[in-house]
Order: sequence, then structure tokens, then C-alpha cells
Amino acid sequence: MAIHSLSTPIEYLKGVGPQRGDVLKKELSVFTYQDLINYYPFRYIDRTRFYKIRELTPDLPAVQVLGRLVSKEIIGEKQSRRLLARLRDDTGVIELVWFQGVRWVEKMLQPNAVFIVFGKPNEFNGKISIPHPELELYNPNLKKQGNPTLQPVYNSTEKLKQFSLDTKGIQKIQAAVLDAVINEIEETLPEYILQKFKLIGRREAIRYIHFPPDAGSLQAAVGRLKFEELFFIQLKLLKNKLLRTQKFKGLVFDKVGDKFNTFYKDKLPFDLTNAQKRVLKEIRLDTQRGVQMNRLLQGDVGSGKTVVALMCMLLAIDNGCQACIMAPTEILAQQHFMSIKNMVGDGFATIALLTGSTLKKERKVIHEQLANGTLNILVGTHALIEDSVQFSNLGLAVVDEQHRFGVEQRAKLWKKNSIPPHVLVMTATPIPRTLSMTLYGDLDVSVIDELPAGRKPIKTIHLFESQRLRMFGFMKQEIALGRQVYIVYPLIKESEKLDLLYLEAGIETISREFPLPDYRISIVHGKLKPSEKDFEMQRFIKGETQIMVATTVIEVGVNVPNASVMIIENSERFGLSQLHQLRGRVGRGAEQSYCILMSGNKLSKEAKIRLETMVKTNDGFEISEIDLQLRGPGDIEGTRQSGVLDLKLADLTHDQEILQEARSEVIRIFETDPNLSSDENRLLKQYFNKKERSISLHNIS
Ligand code: ADP
Ligand code: MG
Repeated sequence: MAIHSLSTPIEYLKGVGPQRGDVLKKELSVFTYQDLINYYPFRYIDRTRFYKIRELTPDLPAVQVLGRLVSKEIIGEKQSRRLLARLRDDTGVIELVWFQGVRWVEKMLQPNAVFIVFGKPNEFNGKISIPHPELELYNPNLKKQGNPTLQPVYNSTEKLKQFSLDTKGIQKIQAAVLDAVINEIEETLPEYILQKFKLIGRREAIRYIHFPPDAGSLQAAVGRLKFEELFFIQLKLLKNKLLRTQKFKGLVFDKVGDKFNTFYKDKLPFDLTNAQKRVLKEIRLDTQRGVQMNRLLQGDVGSGKTVVALMCMLLAIDNGCQACIMAPTEILAQQHFMSIKNMVGDGFATIALLTGSTLKKERKVIHEQLANGTLNILVGTHALIEDSVQFSNLGLAVVDEQHRFGVEQRAKLWKKNSIPPHVLVMTATPIPRTLSMTLYGDLDVSVIDELPAGRKPIKTIHLFESQRLRMFGFMKQEIALGRQVYIVYPLIKESEKLDLLYLEAGIETISREFPLPDYRISIVHGKLKPSEKDFEMQRFIKGETQIMVATTVIEVGVNVPNASVMIIENSERFGLSQLHQLRGRVGRGAEQSYCILMSGNKLSKEAKIRLETMVKTNDGFEISEIDLQLRGPGDIEGTRQSGVLDLKLADLTHDQEILQEARSEVIRIFETDPNLSSDENRLLKQYFNKKERSISLHNIS
């Protein structure tokens, strides 16, 4: 007989064998004992107590109720034919409903009998009911009827069920595997951490998560395993950061010189907000330490990130370096180029724009100026990371709207200088704190959490299609005041045709409602050539047109302070963060701005929450939290590479506190023991050794 260990192939487990082993491998990627142990229940059925009918809410999972059957009837025809029974206890009455097996169940239901009913409460027409409950006649003589524990429920599949591996079947083999190898499960967290955070041991936690003796033990098990998950992610992230700072020397920006000071004193057209000042200070401290800076600058739309980036670039110039800023679209790059040029004025610094449509001749000049160091600031799209673009001394690379760029693209920036440049990545997509700690856990984060003074919060309303005339009236009113209006249509790849139809129909209606010569309209969508797009954008930016009809190409970064109305068509089809981004296109000048969310009459529950949220708040972080709750981290940009999607238990929406604890602890550990060489951190060092071994094995196979 084989000696059982965690790495034993699953087919050797009692009750498994080759056939079931195959299915487990194919369906669940369970190859070894260890894999099976790591296959946790996805929920538990509370058989420990009976719920009172008054306690039932639709939020509850499946629960047990004890009650007397007071009526039963078959109602409805054909599809809607159903069996309806009523169950009463001393606190109220609920309905039990069956749509299938109606005759058969009906026979089982003896009037006036007392049943243990088990199922998930639902709300229907304001009444609580349980569809398709399990039923069991109550027998008062049996003391503990209905196995009184928290029963684990495992995800299973049709295929698994064919091999009797339904939730009960999986329970059985979990019991077998724990019997065989529970003593092999080793602790991964140092003893002092267990004590400090009152965590139970790993072995115990694994046992309880599969077979909880009671709710308290389950909670302890889940808490322990969640902590472990989040802790090791942070350990990895912060170790990378440490390695990076150990490996790369950083350029030292120790001078605050002429450019920076002159700009600050003479050219800056407004006072910086306190948040902008604070961020500048953080960046200055960071760039004079001799360590490469890798910083994320988060700031809501319109919070003024560009000027902060510009001032950092001036700092680079003061310290004998060049700087660049990379934007995701041509329009945006152009806009940065223009606004930077406007802000610094002529003869102050040499600035060039490099995009896909830069002419060869100009490109050549730029390359030369870059190489001989006469060009100070290069603004561009990803054209500026091409290999042919060589700087003489790149000191700072800024990446705007960084979520639009991949990791590799950013990595290329690093290689643009012998000593990697300082990197500042900026994003207006507010990311919930928990998520940014994980997504960008190895970056330093600065936040501009304050809008420039005098901005009036944007007023947002939601109108249904039937209220369209109101919207037109409002547009006319604002245009008469000299303002400009955006109208945005969704563009979602899967249904591009449909989207274009909407857009075309929309353009037609708008053109009819807003005819020449009183009104002029710009139209921008993805099917236009860059030069056409640019032409239309420029007309709007210059105020030659009053209405900009566009698909979401304008989402990012565009800045037209005179535009005061943002109308979003089919707004129910946009995600929250997109809606917020779009809204951020207005409210940039001193005028009161408005956002009108147009939607059809039928809204899904989630769409309704999204639109209500938009109407309720302008706060990007609040919106991002709600977004995370609605969608989970999976749909939030950047999560895919980060490992947060592989989280088995922890949940970034609810486990903020654990994450914060774990992260702080990891920071403390690296501060006191950067190489993890102390005896008490032995297990943590081992974790990396093990990981490296398994990675190198992985590479060979
Ligand atoms: P974002 O953070 O969305 O990139 P921008 O950098 O485009 O925002 O800034 C939005 C607008 O606010 C610009 O017109 C900019 O000139 C202006 N602005 C930036 N900082 C301030 C400030 N401290 N006071 C007044 N206006 C500011
Ligand atoms: Mg911006």
C-alpha cells in the first residue's frame, strides 16, 4: 500500500480509484491529496437550529423551519401550474411552492402534519416563500433529527455527479483524505503571528473548514485561512518591491531649481490645492532618496493630475534629466501637449509631441533632439516606447490613465535609461483601497483627494426615454447661455452593429432637433480616421461646435472647460466607473455643470443601482466601492494579473480589515527583518524557497 502524503495522486485515496480520479482531475483540477484538501465548501447549510418564520428574509441561505402544514392546493394552468402549501409556526405563515413533481409532492403533504422544511427563503410579491424545499416529517421522539451541524456544500458538476461525487460524495472523500494526511499539514505562519492576531493553527483550520463542529469554529477557520491568503500576497508584493529597490539605484533629484521655481512663482495660473501640494512633496521626498520611484497617483477626474505631473517633469529637468509623458490615445496626448505648452509658455522648455501620426521628418528631428539632450519633455502615445526612441538621459516617465497600458509597456519605459527613470503612473479610475493595496501593492500610492476650489459639484439626473423632450429643452437652454454639450453613446464591441445603429439614429434625431445654422455639431466615433476624429475634436475644443455627439472614445482625459452638460444615452448599458469617467468630462469650468443619464424604461436591478448611485454621489471612491460590490473584482481593470481573482476565501469587498492587518504586519516584518533571516521568520523564508523550487520545476516540465 502506498504511503499517503499530500502529494499522493488522488486516485490512491480510499473511495476514489482511477475512474473517479480521472473525473476529479478533469472537472476540478484535483490531482493530489493536497488539491482535494484545498477544495473548500462554497457554503454551509445551517442544520444547527430551526428558524422562526418571522425571522425569514430573502438574504438568508437555505435554513430549517419547523411548522405545521395548514393548507395545500394546486393552482394555475400549464406552465404556471404549481403546488402551493402553507406552513405555520407560532410566529407566522409562509408559502411553500413546487413547480415540478406537483402530484407526487402533493401526496406527501399530509394536512396538519408537522414538517421540518429546509430551503432558501425568497421574496415574491412582498411575501416570503420557499420554492422547492426539502421536506421531512417531524418525529418528536427522535431527539436530534436532521443531522445538527453546519453541513458543507461543495460545488459539483453533472459529470462528477455521475460518479456519485455530489456534495455528499465529496464530503466523504474529504473525510477520507483528512483521515489519511491531516498530520502532514504544516503550519505556514510564524507562531508569533498566530498569537498576535489570535489565529488558529493551519491543521485545525483545514479540518474545521471542511467539517465545522459549530459556527464559532467555522468562523475561526475561515478567518485564519483568509488571513493567510492575504498575508502571502502582500508578502510577495512587498518582497518584490524590496528586491527592486535593492537592485536598482535611483536617480537623485536633490535640486529644486530654476524651472520648477519659476514655474511655481510666475507661471502657475492658480493656487495648488493642498492635496496637490502634499503629493508633490511626497514625490520630491521619494526622488531624492537615491531609490527608483514607482508611484501611483490616484485622483478623481478633474482633480488636477496633469499639473502635478508637469511640475515633476520640471523637477527632472532641473536635475539634468529629460522627462516624458505617455497617454493612451492620440487625442489625449495632443491635449497634454497643448496644455503643457500653454502652461509653461515659449522658450521655457523644449517640448515635442510624438504619436503614430507624427510625420517622418518631424520624427527624425525629435529623435535627434532626444539623443543630444536638447529636448526636455516628450509627450506622446505608446509611440514613445518604440525601440527607435532613445533618450540621452530620461529621468522621469509619466504614464497617464495607466490602466490602459499593459505591464510590458510600462516595463519598456524602465529600459529607456541606464539607471531606470522614476516612474509616475496616474489614474482617474478610482480603485477601492483594498483593491489598490493588492493590485498596486508594490507601488507607492499618492492620492489627490480634493478638487480645485470653486468647482461646483455636477448635478446628475436620470431621465427615461419618455422624458426626452425635457432633455432637448434643457440642452437648448444651456447652449443659449453659451455652453457646450456632450452626447455619448455606448460602444460595446460585441454588438458594434447595434451600437452604430443607435448612434446613427441618435445623430439623425439630434440634427433634426438642432438644425444649422443655429447649431453646429461635432461627431466622433471609432470608425473615423484619426485625422478626422482630431478635426472634429478640435472644432469642439475651439468652441466652433456646440454639441459633441460621440461614442466612448471621449471617455478618457478630454478637457473642455466650457462644456457644461454631459448626456449619456442608454446609460443603463454602461458600467459605473465608465459613467463616472464620462461625467468627469464636465464640471471643469466655473459654471454649474449637469449630467443627464438617459435610459429605457426597463432596468435591471443592477442598472437601477448604478444610475441611483450616479445621481446620489460625485465621489469617485464611493462609486468604486459600490462598483466592486456589484461586480466583484473580476471585472475591474487590472485585476487579472494581480492574483486577487485566485483568492479562494478572502473577498476584497468584505475583508478590508484583514487585508489591512496582513499588510501592516508584512510591512513591519520587512522593516525589521528584510531578508527574513531571523529564526521567528523561518517559515516565511521557507515559503519563498518552496515557491522557487516549484516554479523552477514548473519551468522544466
Ligand atoms: P485630471 O486629474 O482629470 O487629469 P486635469 O489635470 O486635466 O485633471 O485638470 C483639470 C482642470 O483643472 C484643468 O483645466 C486644470 O488646469 C485645472 N486645475 C488643475 N489644478 C488646479 C487648481 N489647483 N486650481 C484650479 N484649477 C486647477
Ligand atoms: Mg487627466
